[in-house]
Amino acid sequence: MVLYTNCKSCKATITIKSNASTRPDLQMEKGTEFNVNCSECGSIEKKHVNDVRAEEGKQIVFIGVVLGVIVTIVLWRLFGAIGTVSMVIPILFWKQQINATKIFNSYMVRRK
Ligand SMILES: [Zn+2]
Repeated sequence: MVLYTNCKSCKATITIKSNASTRPDLQMEKGTEFNVNCSECGSIEKKHVNDVRAEEGKQIVFIGVVLGVIVTIVLWRLFGAIGTVSMVIPILFWKQQINATKIFNSYMVRRK
């Protein structure tokens, strides 16, 4: 899962480096409001945790695909066609990412 926000001045996407999986986690880590630095126009602005959006991490899904292919090849050699069940691995990775994103985006922190 990737966390991002948009720059007010140039509308560029600013990726937020954090391991937080929910909005309250992010709030605990960075505070209710925190500064972000836009790499496009260089402006620094204050963002509220509710301005942060989550997106599925394509890297993680890619790892799932690679893992799925490797496991499928191994199982295919051992068990034949039944080994293709491991092709669900990328789907599981994808689903997990979609769920995590949904949870993050649906939960808003109360604004003071
Ligand atoms: Zn900018």
